[in-house]
Amino acid sequence: MLNLILFGPPGSGKGTQATKLLKRYDLIHISTGNLFRYEIDNRTPLGQKAKSYIDKGDLVPDEITVDMLKNKVKKHPGVAGFIFDGFPRTVAQAKALDHFLQTEDRSVSLLIALEVNAQELVNRLLKRGRSSGRADDQDADIIRNRIAVYKNETAPVANHYANNQKTRVIDGTGEIEAIFNRICKEVDLVLA
Ligand code: ADP
Repeated sequence: MLNLILFGPPGSGKGTQATKLLKRYDLIHISTGNLFRYEIDNRTPLGQKAKSYIDKGDLVPDEITVDMLKNKVKKHPGVAGFIFDGFPRTVAQAKALDHFLQTEDRSVSLLIALEVNAQELVNRLLKRGRSSGRADDQDADIIRNRIAVYKNETAPVANHYANNQKTRVIDGTGEIEAIFNRICKEVDLVLA
């Protein structure tokens, strides 16, 4: 079973690469950002709670996020594995994930950290905001807050998995296909 964490700041290309990886390795893609947007679009109580945080570029509280993620994982018993995209975003979420996978006799296989400089991130997100309609991609201040939250709260997650040699840092700039090949090389080493 392959459990991949796709990691990196907002705009680093996690969603793009996840779409390619799930086809190559036959994995289930779980994006907590997409799950929240689905709840918001359907005006559920969970969505309404999450929206107040997302609109500011802050993180949704761990408990809400972890419960939502577990429910999603449990819906897919017996699959080849998962790509976690945008999760875990805090060390507390990482510990909750480790514990949850352990109860099912599984573990995180690899954390792929996509590295992209801050200026390029802001440019990519503003560009995405013009086509996706995502409110949190249209305001440079909200984007900067998301990048700051990433540095303060999320970046330590890579160190958490580096402690047991599971973190791989990948250059997230250049052609989409070239980045994909860099990621696949690391995944294939784990599968070998
Ligand atoms: P991006 O990676 O471009 O910021 P996402 O779609 O992954 O976009 O996330 C959008 C927003 O959803 C985040 O800014 C945050 O408010 C919320 N969110 C997503 N995943 C998590 C998570 N694991 N924990 C807390 N909040 C989250």
